[in-house]
Amino acid sequence: MHYRSWLECIRGCKEHHSIFDVVYRCNTCGGLLDVQHDVEALKDRSAAAWMQLFDGRTRTTAWPYGSGVWGKKEWVCPELCNENVVSMYEGHTNCFWAERLGGELGVENLWVKLCGNSHTGSFKDLGMTVLVSVVRQMIANGRSIRAVACASTGDTSAALAAYAAAAGIPAVVLLPKGKVSTAQLIQPIANNALVLALDTDFDGCMRLVQQLTEDKTIYLANSMNALRMEGQKTIAFEIVQQFDWEVPDWIVIPVGNLGNVSAISKGFLMLKELGLIQKLPRIACAQAARANPLYRSYQTGFREFRPVQAQKTLASAIQIGNPVSYERAVKALSAFSGIVEQATEDELANAAALADRTGMYTCPHTGVALAVLSKLIASGEVNSSDRVVVISTAHGLKFTDFKVGYHEGTLEDVVARHRNPPVNLPADYEAVQRAIDEAI
Ligand SMILES: *Cc1c(COP(=O)(O)O)cnc(C)c1O
Ligand SMILES: [Zn+2]
Repeated sequence: MHYRSWLECIRGCKEHHSIFDVVYRCNTCGGLLDVQHDVEALKDRSAAAWMQLFDGRTRTTAWPYGSGVWGKKEWVCPELCNENVVSMYEGHTNCFWAERLGGELGVENLWVKLCGNSHTGSFKDLGMTVLVSVVRQMIANGRSIRAVACASTGDTSAALAAYAAAAGIPAVVLLPKGKVSTAQLIQPIANNALVLALDTDFDGCMRLVQQLTEDKTIYLANSMNALRMEGQKTIAFEIVQQFDWEVPDWIVIPVGNLGNVSAISKGFLMLKELGLIQKLPRIACAQAARANPLYRSYQTGFREFRPVQAQKTLASAIQIGNPVSYERAVKALSAFSGIVEQATEDELANAAALADRTGMYTCPHTGVALAVLSKLIASGEVNSSDRVVVISTAHGLKFTDFKVGYHEGTLEDVVARHRNPPVNLPADYEAVQRAIDEAI
């Protein structure tokens, strides 16, 4: 295959690296790297031909093209040999019309992309399949890699542990002790990763893993690694494909380390460059008010950026004060007339519960996005006729304590307006009958 990709500095320095090199930052300026594709080569197929190729592969069993990520292999990682692909058939997640919730929020055309309906329960699978596959090819080519490693707020480590285990590659995960959900903690344990629970926050784990991976035999799997972006950008491809190659008006994303928003915008830009779409959506980033460095920076017109000490939030996967992909995200947001809004604990918990009452089962981060969306509708930024896609980043089943606490009314700083606690009754026909009559 003649398609090619390589690593390049996001600040435009000239140096290039192979995607199979162990390098995460530009040697000239220290900036992050991004994967660039030979777009001219990709233009050998027309937009219509690409659409037809991608549609034809969707959900098929022809390895590995039935995966949502590998169905777009030429646009993601063309140099990878199929025998090195490590895939759990990730992607192709539901994007569904949230008709009732949209009605309640005041937007007719609300869609929710359930990226958490995936192998390990979050969108992190999309990036990890690419990263671990590339590592497998490096090892096959004789490079000495002892392990893959990441810092995590819970979902990155779950995904890394699963894909590494599938490939038979040792994994090391650094977690902030007591700051991830029970489900998230047990996932890498079950997948036999070395789980290091550290007495710090995510930002502390992130600093340590960057030091650890200066040893090139331990490969860094955080989203500062550009390979993760390549898998995650397929979220944009899928959304457009799911709308029969039309572009929605708004994408609302909960953000922490700012990798995913960078990846999704990269996906839309690629679609436009290759002629599959003619316009771009607008992007709204949603932050927890307790971990809001991007929001603060946005308020200065992105002229200033100060890391913050992230405070404890129910949206634990985005409890990040010093986002690694800040520069990538700011670049992305300017191309998409992007905006940033925040949500308090009370707002995110009630937004999640309101969505649940319409049949969803919403993680707290998706709650942040939904709370932000209702603010944007109230302020008139989002119109009632706009087609809006909310990115749901994880499966609600990972956050049982959040759900239980909400319905028990025990969450700090939350007045639970949609509580639905169980009714305890004797096993008595009349008592049961009365309870039903009172409720309905
Ligand atoms: C990782 C994650 C995010 C944030 O993504 P970033 O790339 O760090 O901005 C949001 N929600 C969930 C559930 C996540 O796991
Ligand atoms: Zn540089």
